[in-house]
Amino acid sequence: MSTIDYDYKIDTIKDKIQELNAKNVILQFPEGLKTDAIMVAEEINSVVDDVNIIIDADPCFGACDLADNKVNGHVDLVVHFAHTALPIKTECPVLYIEAHSSADINAPILDAINKLDDNVKTIGLVTTTQHIHKLEDMIEIFKSNGYNVVLDNGVGTSSGQVLGCNFTSIKNLNVDVIVYVGSGDFHALGVKLFTKKPVILADPFTGRARDIDKFYDKILRIRFARITKAKSAKSYGIIISSKKGQLRFELALKLRDLLEEHGLKAQILNMDYISPDRLLPFNLDAFVMTACPRIAIDDSAMYKKPVITPQELEIVLGLREWEDYMMDEIIIHDEQTD
Ligand code: SF4
Repeated sequence: MSTIDYDYKIDTIKDKIQELNAKNVILQFPEGLKTDAIMVAEEINSVVDDVNIIIDADPCFGACDLADNKVNGHVDLVVHFAHTALPIKTECPVLYIEAHSSADINAPILDAINKLDDNVKTIGLVTTTQHIHKLEDMIEIFKSNGYNVVLDNGVGTSSGQVLGCNFTSIKNLNVDVIVYVGSGDFHALGVKLFTKKPVILADPFTGRARDIDKFYDKILRIRFARITKAKSAKSYGIIISSKKGQLRFELALKLRDLLEEHGLKAQILNMDYISPDRLLPFNLDAFVMTACPRIAIDDSAMYKKPVITPQELEIVLGLREWEDYMMDEIIIHDEQTD
């Protein structure tokens, strides 16, 4: 049974197309939903007349990556499935249709509660877009078990929400422990790194909860090794992304100047889809990733040469202590990335 309770909202899409009198509509799906793309295109075509539906077949990992400027400006409307809207300036309107999971949140939260120390009174609660529609239910479970629950909005996120590149909602929580309701270790890792508090991952897809410390220690060891290797690099590629919500051009320029001030060679490389084989032709010793912060951490093992974050470069150059290790973030305030 699918754990994604996905309503493609064909009527909402139809209304938007008619409101805009759109003629060319591009549909963007994350990888997990692309198998439905043909069916969705056919359903839209069956309820509107004379509209060209285009499916964007490129990979799409977040709302940072919008297809509004693809097809050489012919697009009147982007329908972006699954991700939460980011305040990114676009060439044409974007309709976001979020994906919500139907996975049970009771079992993993009760398992998390079983793992709490007796002295825990106040819980910080965070989750992702997939489960955010169940936030009130999550709060209720903790409260009915005698805990106080604290949440924050953060910058550019809704109450209790974290993104892979935005952890602002957990930075000011005065709590004993943070429970992250979601799957995958990356978000829980970010929560731990930014708060240094105990973090429990309550996974709705397994129904279980676990401490994040083992994963946290493993990732920090890997990052330490990458930073150590990067210290012997004489030349760096600074990767920028042409994806709107990932482009940090000014940051790339600053990092280039910084590297040059330290007597190192630096070359800015623009990429859209970033993958290890695309870096192979460049005779550079290491890379700094200014695009999606997840790439350097999640895909680390795929890259032969060190790929480090801007904050890790600061450690390499002696401008930041290892003890102040910080994850990279892209906080989009108001239709800007940089
Ligand atoms: S930059 Fe990375 S983490 Fe942030 S929304 Fe895009 S894909 Fe997700």
